[in-house]
Amino acid sequence: MTEVSMEKIVSLAKRRGFIYPGSEIYGGLSGTWDYGPYGVELKNNVKNLWWKMFVHEREDMCGVDAAILMNPEVWKASGHVSGFHDPLVEDKKTKKRYRADHVLEENGVDVGGMTLDDMAAAISERKILSPDGNPLSAPKQFNMMFKTQVGPMEDESSISYLRPETAGGIFVNFKNVVDSLHPKLPFGIAQIGKAFRNEIAPRDFTFRSREFEQMEIEYFIKPTDWQPAFEAWRMSVHTFNNAIGISSERVHELEVAAEDRAHYSKRTIDFEFDFPFGRKELYGLAYRTDFDLSAHAKASGVELSIIVDDATGEKLVPHVIEPSFGVDRTVLALLVSAYTEDDLGGETRTYLKFNPAVAPIKAAVFPLLKNKPALVEKAREVYAALKRTTPQIMWDDNGNIGKRYRRQDEIGTPVCITIDFDTLENGTVTVRDRDTGEQERVAIGELAGRIGAAC
Ligand code: ATP
Repeated sequence: MTEVSMEKIVSLAKRRGFIYPGSEIYGGLSGTWDYGPYGVELKNNVKNLWWKMFVHEREDMCGVDAAILMNPEVWKASGHVSGFHDPLVEDKKTKKRYRADHVLEENGVDVGGMTLDDMAAAISERKILSPDGNPLSAPKQFNMMFKTQVGPMEDESSISYLRPETAGGIFVNFKNVVDSLHPKLPFGIAQIGKAFRNEIAPRDFTFRSREFEQMEIEYFIKPTDWQPAFEAWRMSVHTFNNAIGISSERVHELEVAAEDRAHYSKRTIDFEFDFPFGRKELYGLAYRTDFDLSAHAKASGVELSIIVDDATGEKLVPHVIEPSFGVDRTVLALLVSAYTEDDLGGETRTYLKFNPAVAPIKAAVFPLLKNKPALVEKAREVYAALKRTTPQIMWDDNGNIGKRYRRQDEIGTPVCITIDFDTLENGTVTVRDRDTGEQERVAIGELAGRIGAAC
């Protein structure tokens, strides 16, 4: 395991086209990031593998893609309008704002279960100052939802919010899905999409962004079944991590104490990851009881229950287990897990040891020399044929072979294929392995199967 600094990750991500600062040519926009050509491929691979594992390969799951803008009543019923807060303190001199809990943690205070008054007391007793060395205001609650106006009227009646989590779109479609598919308990609904939080202090690269993506599942169960369902999802989170190549030594479970759980949760496990800036939440797993369906049924006046016994017509409001995955934190954890420095042929090199399943480019094809038409023609033929079965194939004829290998290593391409003079004679190519740097001769006809099997 290479210990890597955030500077190295941020710099490689920018230089090699994974992640750029949002709106960079205008000086950026705090808490926003843009995914570049390799970043978007990596991110799509993560989302596709998640969907494959949790929707396509199961009989008890289906998906939805709900609108980001929702009726504001959704967020009143879910408790987000009244309770989706983070504690904020202000530097009395510079007026800069900080997360009170983060400031306290950085000063060695355990904030578990602390109220606003407790935080105010800790700040004053310990004489805690802002990072600029100035006095801090008393902490107050700050609602993290982005408010917006829907339609041409700018008044209270047109206020809506950018969704702070994708879960809301699943709960409000519960009845629609039940009416269309008539599923039996247990079953789950998955959704992947953007979520927005007006984080007080976005930081640590994409880890804490204001616009990010989530992959969430609401798994509906009979209330008596919640413990085994919770355990099964707990295992599935690890299975997913292993499948995509998140280093398991860096993942740790944290049982969240009652006073620190979200308002809807009866049990929560955070899956934390050892990022270069500390051990922080990667995913969450929560037992949300029937909190959401009951709250939405009450507020909307629409019954949100399901028949559990066809003979008697007995119904109940299902309980819910929610595994919640952040796409951006997954991508960041993958970059950190894959980042490797080693010594190859007497030279230090940097490469991303991605699992081929998530690698943005599965193979690169080179002609040994770019000024030999016969080599270029043959290489183009191999490239076009491979691209038909595996689209994420790259052509590269820039610079010498050594430079091409370094470039592909840095974006994590598992294999490089070189077409040389022997290819013209005997139909074999050189296949170079990213991790070992070793090369072997392989027949052109075997390439597609080899690349496809690895991905
Ligand atoms: P944190 O405690 O780090 O603020 P959270 O407990 O508020 O996170 P959840 O509400 O459980 O996060 O959201 C589910 C998942 O969404 C998280 O596990 C994380 O992967 C992702 N996520 C949440 N907030 C952000 C953010 N600001 N930027 C990027 N990803 C996020």
